[in-house]
Amino acid sequence: MDKTVLLCRAQSYDQALVDQQVEFLFGQLEAARELNQNSRVLLKPNLLAKHPPEAAVTTHPAVVRAVIRALKKRGVTHITLADSCGGLYNPAVMKSLYKVSGLWQVCQEEGVECYTECRYGARPAPEGRVVKEFTLIQPVLDSDFIIDLAKFKTHVMAGCTAATKNLFGCIPGLQKAEWHMRFPDKERFGDMLIDLLEIVRPRISLVDGILGLEGDGPAGGTPRQIGLLLAGEDPLTVDLAVCGLMGLDPMRVPYLAAAQRRDLCDQSLDPALLRGDTDAFCPIPGFALPQSYQGGDTDFAHHVPGLLQKPVQALERVLAPHPVVMASRCIGCGKCAEICPQHTIRLDKKAKIRQEKCIRCFCCHEMCPVKAIQVKKFSLFRL
Ligand code: SF4
Ligand code: SF4
Repeated sequence: MDKTVLLCRAQSYDQALVDQQVEFLFGQLEAARELNQNSRVLLKPNLLAKHPPEAAVTTHPAVVRAVIRALKKRGVTHITLADSCGGLYNPAVMKSLYKVSGLWQVCQEEGVECYTECRYGARPAPEGRVVKEFTLIQPVLDSDFIIDLAKFKTHVMAGCTAATKNLFGCIPGLQKAEWHMRFPDKERFGDMLIDLLEIVRPRISLVDGILGLEGDGPAGGTPRQIGLLLAGEDPLTVDLAVCGLMGLDPMRVPYLAAAQRRDLCDQSLDPALLRGDTDAFCPIPGFALPQSYQGGDTDFAHHVPGLLQKPVQALERVLAPHPVVMASRCIGCGKCAEICPQHTIRLDKKAKIRQEKCIRCFCCHEMCPVKAIQVKKFSLFRL
């Protein structure tokens, strides 16, 4: 597989500009030459929850439209756009998400199917290290060419979310919470994501970094103008480039560390793999990582001898960043309780988290529509 990462600048979502830059990227990608009228293409955007394009949480409609146009130029007629959000997965929910994100309108105008049937099925993962079978949304099973349309965002649990983590959306709705419960440990969760990557294998990964998200992403952060599009055939190498731009050590990103342990990627991006506007590749000045990733690595347990691991893990639990409900902001919608894999959130007009059962997956933080769940670090005053 070609591990080249293409970079190009785009300072706005002006459609003519985005069309031009996406066409440039497609012109450089070897995989795009395989596209033809018989291709069954799935566009997999990042559609985490109900957010408008300017919130920089979801893949921007101008990028999706430009990709559809690039596909049509190559004779592709069978194009489906599909994702599954973090909460309930049903036609009404998905339709409202597509509409708010602007993707519904793009699909209508471009004559592309926007998938709302919400069916799913099993795909075996015989080579999987920690998972032997996944349940995936039906369009993933039905397509023969997946285009991963990710967003350039930070992530409180994983450090960053871009091409690889976007594939977690191939798992239907609340079933995602079951995977968090099954793999509460970040390292094993990273292994699960790599098993998933191996059976989904997008042919092209394109990251919308025109307007990215910094701070406590993937939903609670702050939009940040980055002005870049990234693309490649290997999502892992594309993500190494995203980490380089964020100033984040890729080996602190659990799924990249898991991939590196399997020799699927390097510890950081080899600059020789960059093509296109290579001058744009340098750490973004002052880019805000999630609070949980500021400062050094607090994951000590894996570095101490076996006997010491349990007490060190217990200490880590006390020190680890954890979710806290800001009662003044909470509107009592219950979305956090719905997604929580540990069922440790009680709703009594406002949400309340029982910390002792919390596994720090931060799904509640991702799904809160009003940013009422914050990520707090250890404080002496809370002991
Ligand atoms: S309270 Fe939030 S962070 Fe804790 S387990 Fe539930 S969803 Fe995950
Ligand atoms: S914390 Fe957020 S998601 Fe949970 S009930 Fe309150 S507003 Fe809703």
